[in-house]
Amino acid sequence: MLTYQTETHARGREALLHEPAGGDPDKLTLVRALGSLVWDENGKEYIDCTAQAWSNNLGANDSRVIEAAIEQTRQITHARPTFHTPALLELAELLVSIAPEGLDRVGFTLHGSMAVEMALKLALRNRPDARHVAVLHDAYHGRSLTTMAASWPHPGNVFGILQPQFLRLPRPDLYRPRQGLSTGQDTELSLRLIRDILTKGTEGPVAALIYEPIQGNGGHNEFSARWHQGIREICDEYGIMLIIDEVQTGLGRTGRMWASDYYGIEPDVLVFGKGVGGGFPLAGVLAKKRFAKFLAGDDQLTFGQFPISIAAGLAAVKAIIADDLCSRAAEHGRYATERLLEMQKRHPLIGEVRSPGLMVSIELVRDRVTKEPARTEAHAVFELAQERGVILGESRYGCLGNLIKIKPPLDISREHLSTALDVLDEVLTLVENGTEAP
Ligand code: PMP
Repeated sequence: MLTYQTETHARGREALLHEPAGGDPDKLTLVRALGSLVWDENGKEYIDCTAQAWSNNLGANDSRVIEAAIEQTRQITHARPTFHTPALLELAELLVSIAPEGLDRVGFTLHGSMAVEMALKLALRNRPDARHVAVLHDAYHGRSLTTMAASWPHPGNVFGILQPQFLRLPRPDLYRPRQGLSTGQDTELSLRLIRDILTKGTEGPVAALIYEPIQGNGGHNEFSARWHQGIREICDEYGIMLIIDEVQTGLGRTGRMWASDYYGIEPDVLVFGKGVGGGFPLAGVLAKKRFAKFLAGDDQLTFGQFPISIAAGLAAVKAIIADDLCSRAAEHGRYATERLLEMQKRHPLIGEVRSPGLMVSIELVRDRVTKEPARTEAHAVFELAQERGVILGESRYGCLGNLIKIKPPLDISREHLSTALDVLDEVLTLVENGTEAP
């Protein structure tokens, strides 16, 4: 690369607020992306098993999305939220038509965090006497001040004076159930504890309970059908709005359009984001008609209905449907899971293989009985794979930090998925043999 560029980039890296001084060696400078491939500034090609931020459900730079965004750019780039654009109305109609049963209203914004806040505002608008909003342990709902408070406790949190207190409810753990309990008993106990907290541990109404159908950043924690059904019953009994955060699981990731469809969950409100924009910032909320709408000023942001994102989103959702990416995700997911289960027989590091769809991950443990998280090993796997041209997802989740995620675009080719799994197999062997040096 040109020296002038190298020097400018080095100074730019220093200038960035979000960059550790000197730059993070794991951070690549990306210059191009297509489908499930990305290229760095040195021209090196990578298979991207992260879909960037689990958000390119449709592969990167899909020509249909790019053309729609260019066309919208030529027409009108910015419209105040008090006006509509044709694509806005078409996307509203389309999303409502594919939403889980009964969700027939939609609101847009640009970030998952702001969409979660929109859902929370809707809950409070509809329950003005509420005193609490509930979340689950190990949840992740974003990084705005409010959604950060709704997520797992942030290490060394200095933002507290500006953050609300959420009611944090226990959850079952299918991999590490509470001591002495089966997974079924752990689920029943968690549901009982939640009832106790709502009955005896809180004063005043709870406006909403928000949870992810599979906790994403919290460690790919899945729940049983009994749990989802039990939570629905509790919400009905206590008059609590059930908000399902599908920012990560929506738009085909689990092999169905929504994880709510996959698990048979009946949300009152569903939050979407990431994959909906086809690589452009877009998120929002689907809600039942029976809830009161927002009043003027409740939820207006300058770029909340950004026409280019909306046009890109309209093209992306149409493409996800036209290409039947839900089925593709389900098929790829079955293939990846089979291969990982076979690898688990040979690699003691693999504690558990998780799916469904292309929400695939493995939890690395030092011992399958104690399930001690293998954090440094997971990081070594991540780094060695990246050296070999495969970007794996890595969980830096506070408590565990030992998850390797494989969540590529849903239209990844079988060849690329297979190569990525070959590389994972190879680097697991290197890490297990203690011969990590490339
Ligand atoms: N909810 C969930 C479940 C998420 O995974 C994320 C992002 N990882 C968010 C909300 C926040 O989305 P954003 O980063 O777009 O604000």
